Amino acid sequence: MELRNNMRIALGDILKDKRRVALGGHVRPDGDCVGSSMGLYLYLKEQFPHIHTDVYLEEIPEAYRMISGTDEVKTQISGDGTYDLFICLDCGDVKRLGFSEPLFEKAEETLCIDHHISNEAFADHNYIVPDASSTSELVFTLLDREKISRAAAEALYMGIVHDTGVFQYSCTSPETMEIAAELMRKGINGSEIIDKTYYEKTYIQNQILGRALLESMLIMEKRCIVSVIRQRSMKFFQAQPSDLEGIVSQLRLTKGVEVAIFLHEIEPQKFKVSLRSKGVVDVSMIAKHFGGGGHVRAAGVTMSGSSYDVINNITARIALQLDHGKEQDEK
Ligand code: 5GP
Ligand code: MN
Repeated sequence: MELRNNMRIALGDILKDKRRVALGGHVRPDGDCVGSSMGLYLYLKEQFPHIHTDVYLEEIPEAYRMISGTDEVKTQISGDGTYDLFICLDCGDVKRLGFSEPLFEKAEETLCIDHHISNEAFADHNYIVPDASSTSELVFTLLDREKISRAAAEALYMGIVHDTGVFQYSCTSPETMEIAAELMRKGINGSEIIDKTYYEKTYIQNQILGRALLESMLIMEKRCIVSVIRQRSMKFFQAQPSDLEGIVSQLRLTKGVEVAIFLHEIEPQKFKVSLRSKGVVDVSMIAKHFGGGGHVRAAGVTMSGSSYDVINNITARIALQLDHGKEQDEK
């Protein structure tokens, strides 16, 4: 199998002489963030027992807690927090580390493993492959595959499943499938991981998804779909921010739509914006323009103003790309 690791990042060399290593992922951890962090964490603990390894992540959504070791995750910094190496996973920029950013800043050496096209290589060592399906896939290519345990395989498999939309998005390559096959051979229960962490929804999650779909609107001659969930709805349904995962993907499935825009009001006049595209529009460019980032077909940003301001600002950038596409077609 061809390895994507053509940057020649050798984990063994980087870990040489290290005694304290910390791992950290992005704020509001998603399936790939948890999968890649836990996969690497479990591998390091098993294969490098002489190294003290800690993993720092914000509160992990309940469904992902079936992954081994998630009960050991640190959700805050305790002690002086100095590490010989900080490994940053699935983070497009250093700010996305959230509470663990000071550990990155203080660490003797840093390594970034990521697949966001917006990533500007902010660590000492950078292993960034924008066309990789997921950070979990990249972690796999750094490990000695013979030594990957079933528990680590489960974590990495979950990460790949989530960032490929169950092996469906265009980022799913033949290598992705080969890696998934190798992980399956470790004896994991792939269908259970898919069912329990990806498809299964709580009643609250389904209720709020229903609300978002019901209130959605087609705009820009039906080429975009937009929906907003406000704080009062979150309160009404007693929903957590992580309960909103998957809403924007469902919006994107609407026939004829090119871009899905989902706004979550995190405080008055402030929105977490999720963008998904079917292919023509590069949403990472749009998110980056407003200070966020992500991938060509899935990106996010936090924006201030009224929901109308936010939607107007984003749709103006989408229109630029769609109009440009039209001009190209006419040529
Ligand atoms: P989501 O819409 O699911 O929150 O995020 C979609 C993708 O964009 C994810 O890969 C996520 O890491 C990235 N992303 C979301 N919000 C931000 C942001 O504020 N800044 C950056 N750099 N990336 C983001
Ligand atoms: Mn990812």
